[in-house]
Amino acid sequence: MLLHSTNRNTLDVDFKTAILTGQALDKGLYMLNQIPSLSIDEIFSFRELKLSDIASTIISKLLGDSIPEKNLKLLLKRALNFPVPIQKIDQKDYICYLDKGPTCSFKDFGARSLARIVEYYLKEEDKKIIILTATSGDTGGAVAQAFYEMENINIVVLYPKKEISDLQRKQMTTLGKNVTAIGIDGKFDDCQHLVKTAFADEELKHINLSSANSINIGRLLPQSIYYFWSYSRVADKVGEKVIFSVPSGNFGNLMGGLIAKKMGLPVKKFISAVNENDEFPNFLKTGRYQKVEPSRKCISNAMNVGHPSNLARVIDLYGGQIDEKGIIHQEPNLDEMRRDIASFSITDELTKKTIGQFHQKHGGIVEPHGAVGWAALKIYRNQYPKHAKFKGISLETADPAKFPEEIVSLVGVTPKIPDSLLKIQSKKEFSNEAEIDNYSDFRRFLSKKF
Ligand SMILES: *Cc1c(COP(=O)(O)O)cnc(C)c1O
Repeated sequence: MLLHSTNRNTLDVDFKTAILTGQALDKGLYMLNQIPSLSIDEIFSFRELKLSDIASTIISKLLGDSIPEKNLKLLLKRALNFPVPIQKIDQKDYICYLDKGPTCSFKDFGARSLARIVEYYLKEEDKKIIILTATSGDTGGAVAQAFYEMENINIVVLYPKKEISDLQRKQMTTLGKNVTAIGIDGKFDDCQHLVKTAFADEELKHINLSSANSINIGRLLPQSIYYFWSYSRVADKVGEKVIFSVPSGNFGNLMGGLIAKKMGLPVKKFISAVNENDEFPNFLKTGRYQKVEPSRKCISNAMNVGHPSNLARVIDLYGGQIDEKGIIHQEPNLDEMRRDIASFSITDELTKKTIGQFHQKHGGIVEPHGAVGWAALKIYRNQYPKHAKFKGISLETADPAKFPEEIVSLVGVTPKIPDSLLKIQSKKEFSNEAEIDNYSDFRRFLSKKF
């Protein structure tokens, strides 16, 4: 199985190369040349399987013979060692909770699977690498925890100092050892830009940089698992179609779903739920792409992305081409995209209102990212009464305890803090190792440290 770069300006590679290098040298993202498919009967039969068995079935189809199935099964079992509950909320709508991993974010899914896959390949290669990653809030913690204490792997995480919560920061800064977390005086997009520039920098080639952002295809593919999983738990009939509402920032979450659909998962519609960073719904509507620059600051902070990197893959999947600057070189099939995906921008005001109303109506608590997803699903329900018969699954991507002030002020209840977060709160933070204002600072730091 080979992968191409979405910029189509470099040679195709195999999985191992794509996973160990992260980003293609032409600054494109690696994307599968072909996507294998499963029958609707096989997909329906997943209702008999455990999460880890569904996971290894899906990933071994995607990776082909790159990792023997027996090894893959074991490493996915270790990676996905937490529950993924699905709860019926009203008549037709469910929430799938992706927040039960060690960092209480859906990013644990991709990050932990990727870490194990990388570890497997590195053992084969006897090689050292540096995982470089930019985070808008949750990726950094998930990646740092996933690779923490692994041999021959160093992790450098860049985060926007002023845009993440204390807890999100502590998930990265309290680890030490092979984890270096650096706060940047800027936005997520600035962090992302530094990382992308480093990957394309020939002078840094010798230190074996790799990415664990949703740029890395190894993080993306495991994100198709929970679509199959949640489908298998709500579908009653072979081939029954469902609607997914997907809180979206860098569009890795959505890409996992789109891959699942290409593999045959019966999906009526994906709802890409974004916050006030509305470049994607605008693009779907008008066919013109304009990034939001600088990105808008919303309470669903892990989704404050004005130019999602995985959009390159979404557009590639629909036959188009967009480069890292956001310039479209080949139009995707917009009609087909619109058939598969609806997208709504949810204001902070509506996000807050949704958190309050959800608590009143259902008793439970959704946090800001999940609330964006839930609000978008409800807008869809209003706009498409004809689709009322299809079940809806809204993804909850973080634990409410990560946003305590917001939740208390909106519902008057303090969310219960999961054990994994409790432990972090009292730990000592390591201080910033470097002041980084521009790319040359960053390059100097990397060359000196590694
Ligand atoms: C990253 C993240 C998202 C968005 O996922 P993308 O893959 O960036 O679209 C949503 N919610 C939470 C809590 C996240 O951390």
